[in-house]
Amino acid sequence: MGDDGRARCGGGKSSHVGCQEAVRQLYVYLDGELTEERRLQIAVHLDECGPCADAAGFEAELRAVVSSRCKDRVPDSLIARVAAAIAAEAELSDPTRPSGAP
Ligand SMILES: [Zn+2]
Repeated sequence: MGDDGRARCGGGKSSHVGCQEAVRQLYVYLDGELTEERRLQIAVHLDECGPCADAAGFEAELRAVVSSRCKDRVPDSLIARVAAAIAAEAELSDPTRPSGAP
């Protein structure tokens, strides 16, 4: 069953990639791991197709936020504190537990 009915926003020029294809390649596209030719095809599609361009823009923005947060959001001091708290709690919660427990 070939349901290509949804892949038809924007122009509908048959030489270009469809929406399904564009969206499927979006992550690879944003990672910059596509071939130049492929990237161009996706870029052309995004240029013509509003919904896909929106999706790509959102995804790119999300990635930028996530990667910048992940990089410098969690200071070492916080990690150390959390680790210490976890260790302390583990010790407090069951100090008399025999080491050979099930
Ligand atoms: Zn599209």
